[in-house]
Amino acid sequence: MTPYGNAHRFFLRTVASQGVISVEDAQKLLDNCNSDEEITVKDVVKAVNDEIKPYQQEIKIATDEFTNDEVVVFLSLGYDDATKSQNVFSATELEYFRILLEQIMTTESRQVSGIHAMNLVSKMKSSFTKSDAEKLLGTWCRMRYLDKDQDNYALGVRAIHEFEGYLHQNMPDSIEECCLCKRIVFRGYNCPGCPMAIHTRCLRRYLEKVNKWPCCKIDFFENQLESMTERSSRLAQSETQQLDTSNRSDDATELDPTQNTELTQDVEMSQDVIPEISQRVTRKRKRT
Ligand SMILES: [Zn+2]
Ligand SMILES: [Zn+2]
Repeated sequence: MTPYGNAHRFFLRTVASQGVISVEDAQKLLDNCNSDEEITVKDVVKAVNDEIKPYQQEIKIATDEFTNDEVVVFLSLGYDDATKSQNVFSATELEYFRILLEQIMTTESRQVSGIHAMNLVSKMKSSFTKSDAEKLLGTWCRMRYLDKDQDNYALGVRAIHEFEGYLHQNMPDSIEECCLCKRIVFRGYNCPGCPMAIHTRCLRRYLEKVNKWPCCKIDFFENQLESMTERSSRLAQSETQQLDTSNRSDDATELDPTQNTELTQDVEMSQDVIPEISQRVTRKRKRT
């Protein structure tokens, strides 16, 4: 194997600055490094990981559930309890991201609308405005922490791998594992029959052999997926409205007078407040 050198350093720099690149582009990058020996993405990832592990960073080859491409992802896994931040997010950003993450994971479609995402700032302890949120949402899409599909936000490949441990630990009830590969499903389908979760890619691979759903073996039809995709996009929009409406009445009875004054002064605010996570979990999809 090629010793750790310029090719490795160049590879690390590129992946770290871009966050996510396709395995194909990564290989091209290495081919252009003028090394005498042929050098593979897999070998470089392994060697680089040995170097960056002490800094709680990792490079992973993964499947992007959005595009179904093989990608190289740069992960920042360190978290500092004292400053409540990690390498990429400040404490405030991390607070917003976790609220957004929980919201995304507890809605059936695993997506939230743009308006809903911005309204979540009202749940924050730190001072953070909607326009701060809007800017950050754009940055996170570029960094692939989020993916924007029409007007809805879903988790991007980077968040999926960086926050997998966090989700297992903190939100075990909100995650579903793929019936084939047992990893968390962020983007995929629920079987119309049983309704186990499954990654799009795992399902496709299975369908090459058998034209049935792998979990309960009911017949598979292509239009089942189309209607589910349509439904999930519509759902992300309507869940937003439902949450906002149902909460307005919940809040009226619970608010203390000081908060109430604040809210009447700022009508927009009162519409933004969303229920606590526990309330949302009870409204969570019932799939089992
Ligand atoms: Zn799977
Ligand atoms: Zn099934």
